[in-house]
Amino acid sequence: MTRRTSKPLRVGEVTIGGDTPIVVQSMTKTDTRDITATVNQIKYLEDCGCEIVRVAIPDKEAAKSLASIKKRVSIPIIADIHFDYRLALAALQASVDCLRLNPGNIRDREKIAIVVAAAKERKAPIRIGVNAGSLPANFQPDAPLAERMVNMALEQIRLMESLNFDLIKVSLKAFDVLTTIQAYQMIADKIPYPLHLGVTEAGLPRTGVIRSAIGIGILLYQGIGDTIRVSLSAHPCEEVFVAYEILKSLGVRQRGPTLVSCPSCGRAEVDIIALAEAVSKRLQKISKPIKVAVMGCVVNGPGEAKDADVGIACGKGKGVIFRKGEVVNTTNEDRFLEAITTEINSLNSRGLE
Ligand code: SF4
Repeated sequence: MTRRTSKPLRVGEVTIGGDTPIVVQSMTKTDTRDITATVNQIKYLEDCGCEIVRVAIPDKEAAKSLASIKKRVSIPIIADIHFDYRLALAALQASVDCLRLNPGNIRDREKIAIVVAAAKERKAPIRIGVNAGSLPANFQPDAPLAERMVNMALEQIRLMESLNFDLIKVSLKAFDVLTTIQAYQMIADKIPYPLHLGVTEAGLPRTGVIRSAIGIGILLYQGIGDTIRVSLSAHPCEEVFVAYEILKSLGVRQRGPTLVSCPSCGRAEVDIIALAEAVSKRLQKISKPIKVAVMGCVVNGPGEAKDADVGIACGKGKGVIFRKGEVVNTTNEDRFLEAITTEINSLNSRGLE
């Protein structure tokens, strides 16, 4: 995997692009005017590992509340602006770390120039966030969708460059996974700026996780992308969890534990699905990047999961605890969950050998 070279920029204290790790972001789902609710959700997101958070700015009151929100959280905040350039100015005044502008609905070059001047003065980057769904109908109507998205971004990039502004990052999100991939591939070697990846309106977790993993995963595998946001109709911490799972699957970042569990089959003599779910819940409190296996039979289990740091292979009435494929203990069926939890906690506190 050779990563595309991009020009790094800073969003608050977080660097995006260059050879820095792929940054995980999410978006609050609270009313930004409700300062307490928004601060609480951002803090929760920080605990989940979210590194940058975006908040919607639907009106002036929301923009104003950014100043108080910012004082009470530690991760950088991006103000999400549509339609009204004055909201971008108000967000900058409230010391937001970065803006997201939708070029599909803020079209007036003079107004964009005013925002760019204010962002430049504060050294705040701008994400040019193209959304397939909000392209103006009269914008290159005959061109393929991915091309229209790319051209919309390029038009705004060129405008900002003509104003000597280069603190730019770009996203090109569509609901259609293939259109999204195509758009990012098209723009990747045309511009030097970091790319924010995402598949928009991906849906409920059951389908949205797949759509996001395929879209974001394929691009990352091709070396494209500097920061990611998984969009799900779910709590934003779920988005962060899925984002890290995508990064972990590609071996580009590690965070928290990984659960290996067998699918179960006719050889299993215990309810492996229930045990795996119970172990998964206990792993939520674990911070170290340990690999834990839950396997359905003693004969195949330890061997099939030998790269796990710790695991349990369950048989009828009895199971074995293993570390790196070596059996270290046996346990009775009524203590399966406790036995593996004890091993996990001990590994978490003493660290990996
Ligand atoms: S580990 Fe055993 S129970 Fe689980 S899928 Fe493999 S053979 Fe079946």
